[in-house]
Amino acid sequence: MSSARSLHNNGYEVRILEGRDRLGGRMWSFDGGVGFGTMDLGAAWIHGIKKNPLTNLAKRGKAKRVRTNYESALNVMFDSSSSQYLPPRLVGKIYKEYSAIVSKGIERMQGSTIIDMDLQTAIRQILSNAGNRVKYLKSEKWLRLVTQDLYDLQYAAPTSDLSLWWFDDDKATSGADVLFPNGMWQLGEVVLPKEVTIHLCTTVTKIQSNGDSTTVFTDNGNFVADAVVVTVPLGCLQANTIAFEPALSNTFKNALGKRKMGIYNKVLLRFPKQWWPKRHFFTAISKNGSIPPFQEFLNAQYVSKKPILVAFSSGDTAKSLEDLSDSEIVLIAMKQLREMFPKISIPEPMSHLITRWNSDPFSRGSYSFNKLGVNPDTDFRDILTTHGGRVQFAGEHTNRDYFGTVLGAYYSGISAAKRILGD
Ligand SMILES: Cc1cc2nc3c(=O)[nH]c(=O)nc-3n(C[C@H](O)[C@H](O)[C@H](O)COP(=O)(O)OP(=O)(O)OC[C@H]3O[C@@H](n4cnc5c(N)ncnc54)[C@H](O)[C@@H]3O)c2cc1C
Repeated sequence: MSSARSLHNNGYEVRILEGRDRLGGRMWSFDGGVGFGTMDLGAAWIHGIKKNPLTNLAKRGKAKRVRTNYESALNVMFDSSSSQYLPPRLVGKIYKEYSAIVSKGIERMQGSTIIDMDLQTAIRQILSNAGNRVKYLKSEKWLRLVTQDLYDLQYAAPTSDLSLWWFDDDKATSGADVLFPNGMWQLGEVVLPKEVTIHLCTTVTKIQSNGDSTTVFTDNGNFVADAVVVTVPLGCLQANTIAFEPALSNTFKNALGKRKMGIYNKVLLRFPKQWWPKRHFFTAISKNGSIPPFQEFLNAQYVSKKPILVAFSSGDTAKSLEDLSDSEIVLIAMKQLREMFPKISIPEPMSHLITRWNSDPFSRGSYSFNKLGVNPDTDFRDILTTHGGRVQFAGEHTNRDYFGTVLGAYYSGISAAKRILGD
């Protein structure tokens, strides 16, 4: 959208070729009907509203926003027979220990190790070297409490996949986090000029460049263009869903191959009434330290004014849930909720919405992360510059500073347009 806008503003006639029957991609404000209203099934938050161009877009579109406060999350530790709300003081001490020993250790290792390693191995090494300074984090469950919040959910990947050196090689804007009660897609509506022609249900199969023009082949006709911006997700590029002529170079493919799509899914449950404690978030910690099917819940009552809980699942757990039927997934979510809140009589949900971003042929994952083996200094450069001229690449996976986010996608579109315009 941002690319289309920049090119349109510079006098280009722009067409968007979109495989799905809707615009927005992984920003999907879905009208779930009476029980739900508009719900964001993909991107939902602006994380850090200060000095963030998305905030300006939201203001321009007069989009209503609601702040969420992760700090006040209720941390629930449970197993099949009992559950406990963790006292905030205890949680504070665990995080303090983590930050003093592990976060500092990670920083040190990022600057000193000769070879990269996965983040899980690094964390284990740091803890074992810290000897008796480690009090809480000896316990798998306290370690999980912190790591699932800091890494699994944020990067949608298990720590065993993340590169120690580069997993956090992204930037963040400061300030509060906000959700959109009427859907984040309002930002897309502000960005996209009315004059841009949109072809929905038009799946690109091949992009052929020769001399002065480029032909885009689709299942809905062919289009000849002066230039093309390819914004399909990393997962689609890695699965070769589009053929390129001339073929993409090995340098480009190698660079692409060193990043990976994480998996992050939502299960939205609409209940007859709110039965859960009045907090913005709950986190779920298994007493034995294993990964629960849903690691976090958002109390969407705050946002939608309807009794809706959003359950989040990430990484390998999210991947395996995708293979199950809707009713099996709801059953697992309800079993977990009943174990987390055994004293509450929890009604059955009236309806549900479930995402499967990894199985979706137009996304093939949720968002990208820096896996072990990546070298952002060269890989992002190769993704952006190996194929210059008429075929440019954009999308969150091409933005070194804000990959994995809507902001990254937004910036990447503007920079692809600049490259086409020769700025
Ligand atoms: C569950 C979930 C939660 C998220 N939460 C947040 C959040 O809170 N905040 C945040 O900033 N980010 C979040 N993200 C990440 C954010 O959604 C993405 O980083 C961003 O939307 C990616 O935009 P993009 O333009 O790069 O790709 P996309 O939005 O995926 O756009 C690519 C488009 O290409 C189309 N396409 C693919 N193949 C073809 C083809 N062959 N032919 C034609 N069209 C094709 C797709 O249909 C899609 O519309 C979340 C993502 C998910 C999945």
